[in-house]
Amino acid sequence: QQPLLTTRSTREWQAADAAHFLHPFTDFQSLARKGSRIITRADNIYLWDSDGRKILDAMSGLWCVNVGYGQQALIDAATRQLRELPFYNSFFQTATPPAIELAELLAEITPPQFQHVFFTGSGSEASDTVVRMVRRYWDILGQPQRHTIISRKNAYHGSTMAGASLGGMGAMHAQGGLPIPGIVHIEQPHAYQLAREMAPDAFGRLAASWLEDKIIELGPDRVAAFIGEPVQGAGGVIIPPDTYWPEVQRICDRHGILLVSDEVVCGFGRTGHWFGCERFGTRPDLMSFAKGVTSGYVPLGGVMVGERVARVLIEQGGDFEHGYTYSGHPVACAVALANIRLMQQLKLVERVRDDTGPHLASLYASLAEHPLVGRAETCGLMAALQLVRDKASGTPFPPERQVGLLCRSHCFANGLVMRAVGDRMIVAPPLVMTRAQVDEMGALIRLCLDKTW
Ligand code: PLP
Repeated sequence: QQPLLTTRSTREWQAADAAHFLHPFTDFQSLARKGSRIITRADNIYLWDSDGRKILDAMSGLWCVNVGYGQQALIDAATRQLRELPFYNSFFQTATPPAIELAELLAEITPPQFQHVFFTGSGSEASDTVVRMVRRYWDILGQPQRHTIISRKNAYHGSTMAGASLGGMGAMHAQGGLPIPGIVHIEQPHAYQLAREMAPDAFGRLAASWLEDKIIELGPDRVAAFIGEPVQGAGGVIIPPDTYWPEVQRICDRHGILLVSDEVVCGFGRTGHWFGCERFGTRPDLMSFAKGVTSGYVPLGGVMVGERVARVLIEQGGDFEHGYTYSGHPVACAVALANIRLMQQLKLVERVRDDTGPHLASLYASLAEHPLVGRAETCGLMAALQLVRDKASGTPFPPERQVGLLCRSHCFANGLVMRAVGDRMIVAPPLVMTRAQVDEMGALIRLCLDKTW
């Protein structure tokens, strides 16, 4: 049998890559100059590049690979399903057993209000589904003026037109005339200086009050929903104080506004709970997910639809004019089933909550002593280090110093994938990580901080 791929040197891969492959979120010209890092294989929490270098993947690919690489149960599930039925759609009154069983299992593991799921191919498509579904819900109820969705600055909800509009990334809005109409943004619950000056509980309530201010400014009967990531991931692992989300829930309840939890990053165990809303004490009406549902082995996303919305859509809605070719893809659903069952078998969520999460927290408490670190925060197995020029006053580095990028380059050179969001260094390692591997990651992080200092 002919091998699928050719054998090439790193330089040859880089040349072909630069000649033909436009990467996401990339300055194409500068990447062509530098050359991509070519990742060729992976196992457990480690990657290997085309020069044979071993790298500890502290970002789980892209917040995806919760069960780690090389899990035979997922490989077998995909192989069996590819043989049995590689594709069929769920349009036109058809369904496949893996999609039905996954819907059933998701209803079991998500909070009790969720008994229905709408499948998508990705987190961005889930965000689009949220916008369509929220607006459809209010239309059916005869309140089409309830159209506006409130989100937050620095949020990330994907890269489609609706996903990027829900997101609060200025650089994304600047390209393509975003946001689309009817989406507005409030401040995120992260004000590094302000939060230093206030008690966390008071700051959490203050940040939640910005939502109510915006609702009153817009007129409560014009607001359809509020969407947020329990912990803002791509925005830099922004962990809100414990008072924030319960207060947001009260405000949504007070004004009858739907609450949407984007669990694309926080879902499937990342925070030490199956879903971030359980960690932070909200009862969302919709919950989007992707990434961890299959541990990224194959693409799959979706929206869990709570009973409040599901009842209206099902009983009064007629046709819902929305869906994707790959909604409920059988191979993706089979892999998701295997992934969730493996997580249950390994008790991964409990491990993060009771063992590796607290261990990471104590490791970060010691990293907080480093002269470069202004603040060290963790939530389950996600964490951030805020790098500062002056530790005592918390004064940040001037942006042109690009200290985060400098630190990241030391990580690359020392076999660690850690992400830089401005001057916040973030990690979200695979949930299968052991305590010893948390220590191994900690030693690499410390080394890279020392080299950056
Ligand atoms: N929502 C959140 C919170 C995300 O972090 C992401 C991706 O990182 C998305 C949505 C979009 O998911 P995808 O890249 O699968 O479209």
